[in-house]
Amino acid sequence: MIDSPSSMAPAYEARVEWAKGRMESLGVDCALITNLPNVRYLSGFSGTSGSILFIGGESFFLTDFRYTSQAEKEAPNHKIVEYKEFNDSLSNLLLANGCARMGFETERMTHHKAMELESKLDFIKMVPLKGFIEERRLVKDEPEIEAMAALNDLQADVFPKALALIKPGALERDIAVEIEYMLRKGGADGPAFDFIVASGERSALPHGVASGKTLDDGDLVTLDWGAKKWGYHSDNTRTVALGETDKELAKVYSIVLEANKSAIEFVRPGVTVKQVDDVARRIITKAGYGDFFGHGTGHGVGLDIHEKPTVSWREETVVQPGMVFTIEPGIYLPGRGGVRIEDMVAVTESGCDVLSERIPKEFMRV
Ligand code: ZN
Ligand code: ZN
Repeated sequence: MIDSPSSMAPAYEARVEWAKGRMESLGVDCALITNLPNVRYLSGFSGTSGSILFIGGESFFLTDFRYTSQAEKEAPNHKIVEYKEFNDSLSNLLLANGCARMGFETERMTHHKAMELESKLDFIKMVPLKGFIEERRLVKDEPEIEAMAALNDLQADVFPKALALIKPGALERDIAVEIEYMLRKGGADGPAFDFIVASGERSALPHGVASGKTLDDGDLVTLDWGAKKWGYHSDNTRTVALGETDKELAKVYSIVLEANKSAIEFVRPGVTVKQVDDVARRIITKAGYGDFFGHGTGHGVGLDIHEKPTVSWREETVVQPGMVFTIEPGIYLPGRGGVRIEDMVAVTESGCDVLSERIPKEFMRV
């Protein structure tokens, strides 16, 4: 378990060197990083206002007075620049270091902001960069995997207590709040996203955020939850039965479990995410429920809760060691109920480690 963000320090330096070395091949002579998860990835900065400018072999960290000392402490591998007016400071840095073509993160910077910069910095050509830093984030290094493994372990520790909350008469919303409290008590900075606690008919809603519904005997209850710390996320789903459920739903559970396990077993370097998706989808389709599995099999997790690679039939990304993603097949029968079983895996040289391995997933009646 990483006990302090400083254990990530060597990784930040390597990432910054990598980014600096990419300018030429990107066709720019400087690049502005404004997407906060990317800023954190390159510096360790955990505040909410900061951007990085790579220029002339240097990296400058621009922030305002509220965050200057935090940036000095957390991002020592950058030259900290405190600005009053962002555009003015940026303009000064560009003029002082010489830059004609500035890359910017087109997927994150608003059109409005890009236009504003372009008119203010009229000596600069703004060059849209797509997935510049994200490309490297696709493959995680050891500290990142450790962080997410630790978050999954925290979930595994909390899980038995979470199960104890699932009983007839309990409110979905209360369960979500209690679980968040337990994760925070266990050391998480907060929830990774708004938890899904969906019971009975609502379990057929793939994104049924915890509501004011009370749990009833015979419900299937889907709990989709995760923790956040060091900027990283975890994401797991378990579906449990409250007493005796509909026989078909119990059958659906075993199909989803088989799809989940088979896809995980299939994950290894060299296969494509489409093939991984296909393993889960074929099992569900063969059982006659293909129309009720409308989403992709999984998604990458890291500094964003949903990031690349998307594990779906639409993507051809080749699986590589160090990728971390979810495997979360589901079957949703409208008006009746649904099952989703979600694990997080980290790809190794020969297969994958299941980070959520300690959270039981065999059919459970509570
Ligand atoms: Zn999830
Ligand atoms: Zn997920």
